[in-house]
Amino acid sequence: MKNIPLNSKVRDDFPILKRQINGFPLSYLDNSSTTQKPKIVIDSIVNFYENHNSNVSRGVYTLAEEATEIYESGRDSVARFIRAEGSGEIIFTGGTTDSINLVAQGWAKPNLKAASQIIVTEMEHHSNLVPWQLTALSSGAEVIYWKINPEGRLDLEDLQELINSSVKLLAITAVSNVLGTINLIEEIIKIAHENGIPVLVDAAQAVARIPINVARWDCDFLAFSGHKVYGPNGIGVLYVKKERIAEMIPIKGGGGMISYVEKQTSKWAPAPQKFEAGTPAVAEVSGLTKALEYLEIFGISQIQKHEQTLTSYALQRFSEFEEIDLYGPKEINDRAGVLSFNLSNLHAHDVAQVLDEYGIAVRAGHHCTQVLHKILGIAASARISFGIYNQKFEIDRLISALKKTREIFYSNKL
Ligand code: PMP
Repeated sequence: MKNIPLNSKVRDDFPILKRQINGFPLSYLDNSSTTQKPKIVIDSIVNFYENHNSNVSRGVYTLAEEATEIYESGRDSVARFIRAEGSGEIIFTGGTTDSINLVAQGWAKPNLKAASQIIVTEMEHHSNLVPWQLTALSSGAEVIYWKINPEGRLDLEDLQELINSSVKLLAITAVSNVLGTINLIEEIIKIAHENGIPVLVDAAQAVARIPINVARWDCDFLAFSGHKVYGPNGIGVLYVKKERIAEMIPIKGGGGMISYVEKQTSKWAPAPQKFEAGTPAVAEVSGLTKALEYLEIFGISQIQKHEQTLTSYALQRFSEFEEIDLYGPKEINDRAGVLSFNLSNLHAHDVAQVLDEYGIAVRAGHHCTQVLHKILGIAASARISFGIYNQKFEIDRLISALKKTREIFYSNKL
């Protein structure tokens, strides 16, 4: 059932795309923030509550066994999807942010010392910066930056220059949520490992856009969110390589993460359960599992090509504007379906607001990348980001609406 063509029929799978906004059909171009959910994902959540609702691993009755099966088989599906060696390497969390904080508190904090260094890049989302700043504050470690080049890419030679014996971790995004840059994760991990440096990959933007293979990449940690892969909110994944799991301590205590508890001490359950205190999000895992199955119907490579075709078309149409600043690599193969821009003399928020009048949803702001925006010399940008249901006609609608936006604001200035 692989490689079903990605045509406009896909839109029928997403109930929300039937909505009208301000009298226009919705064109949803904010997939980097969150993706829409296909009906099968929504149905699987309803089905869980209607037919299987129970807590996991805490009962011997049928519903509890079914809930446990849904939860644990979801772990197997995630492991297969990202090509992990086994489901023991998959920890369920609340999202990418939660996953990175777990590594920061549960691995970095006990393993870093004063004067240890953590390399991050200038294109990181705040979720892959602030947790390291917190770790640095409490351990005395230092966060150092791998600079981007003027095209918004990372030069491998610059990494070689940053590496020294104090560096204990490299934390890097696989795909930038602003520039769209696809980083050369496999090569980067190879260089880091040759120097004994573990690598955390923020795959929040990558999982639904490019093929992920944690085993081939040999990454130590990888984080992503369910809601950015056409799955539900409130569920995320932290992949931890088998050898690294033993180096992590739990940061949340509670039910489900222990094998026994005494008055003063407890013994932890084995990993991954030892990092999943409390009642887990079973319905959300069920939805995530369906979302990954759904993506596999099309195949991630086809999705990547589809988004690249859209990006390339958008770049071509954007060239009709003389007064536009586009951010990110010029080479189309270096980028995923994320495109940020500014029309000169127009604030990104104004642009997004007028586009909404035409039913077009785009994001404006700093996209949780203030460090990057400062380097780009701007306070905000407008961003379009594609998903599997977007089609060329939506780019045409966007361009017409942008031309009208420009007219509205320029005529107001006269
Ligand atoms: N990293 C990147 C690259 C992102 O784009 C995002 C979400 N915009 C996050 C991390 C944080 O994801 P979440 O809010 O789902 O935890």
